[in-house]
Amino acid sequence: MAEQLSLLGNISLFRSGIWKPRTKPGMFEGVGEIGLEWLKKAKKAYGIPVTVEVATPQHVELALKYEIDVLWIGARTTSNPFSVQQIADALQGINVPVLIKNPINPDIQLWIGALERIEKSGINEIGLIHRGFSSFAHTSFRNPPMWQIPIEMRRRFPEIPLICDPSHICGNRTLLAEIAQKSIDLDFSGIMIESHPEPDTAWSDAQQQITPLQLSMLLNELKWRTHLDDHEDGFSTIHKIREQIDHTDDELITLLAQRMKLSDQIGTYKKDNNITILQTERWNGILDRLMKKASDLGLSEEFIKRYFEAVHLESINHQNRVMYQNDTQS
Ligand code: PEP
Ligand code: MN
Repeated sequence: MAEQLSLLGNISLFRSGIWKPRTKPGMFEGVGEIGLEWLKKAKKAYGIPVTVEVATPQHVELALKYEIDVLWIGARTTSNPFSVQQIADALQGINVPVLIKNPINPDIQLWIGALERIEKSGINEIGLIHRGFSSFAHTSFRNPPMWQIPIEMRRRFPEIPLICDPSHICGNRTLLAEIAQKSIDLDFSGIMIESHPEPDTAWSDAQQQITPLQLSMLLNELKWRTHLDDHEDGFSTIHKIREQIDHTDDELITLLAQRMKLSDQIGTYKKDNNITILQTERWNGILDRLMKKASDLGLSEEFIKRYFEAVHLESINHQNRVMYQNDTQS
């Protein structure tokens, strides 16, 4: 694999799971220490830096003994502050880059907590890996991406490289390219993709593995994007559109304020006449009417539903406030 991937010419880091956390016992859990020797050889032979997942202080110690270039903390480990702290303690005074995968549950604070623990140990080269979030629901993804979380991490930590792991988000081969492209469009700094010489025979995650040739084709088809500041007239062109967007957003927020004032009036009537706040029939009627309108206007029904659910919930909050206002004052 190392030889084939090195021939692609654009791989900057070779990842290998030496210790693999598996959901159930009895599955392949990695080859262990002997694999570190193979990695060391591969690195020497093909000149690609290597990375392994570490989940315990012993893993850290062994990985460093075999001169692994970059360590990565897996999603299951990030979810456990005790484990992250043990790894952070083992890293005290050591200079090695560390990549931190998001926790399996969509808890941004847990991800930030892991980042803070590793930062506090003195590690200054840190990257984040977005691998999606576990879900009970059956979706087309193995781990739904919930893009708002990595986007928020990007906003809070603009200096920290963010890498996308389409393999674990998709859990299959078909969606890999689409997710990889989406991450590039969202200004991610890199992509981590699993590759195997005979994907169907892989001992873990076979459905999401692709051959080095497929990987090469996928990488070649990706459209790499530039930054706005790389374009001479980029800012002036976009500035005009942004002015209109700001204007429209101002109107939207003014209208929302008016909308909530009307909710307050309705709340007063319901309070005076002892009527329930939630009127399901009316709410169904609103949704039906707006969904129809949304599709006539070329807006996604799913978006309009989510949008008005938020508006409706806020309207209920307003009416609640009206209903209990005087009770709390008296
Ligand atoms: C992996 O990268 O092989 C892995 C186990 O992933 P995750 O920690 O994202 O589940
Ligand atoms: Mn895997």
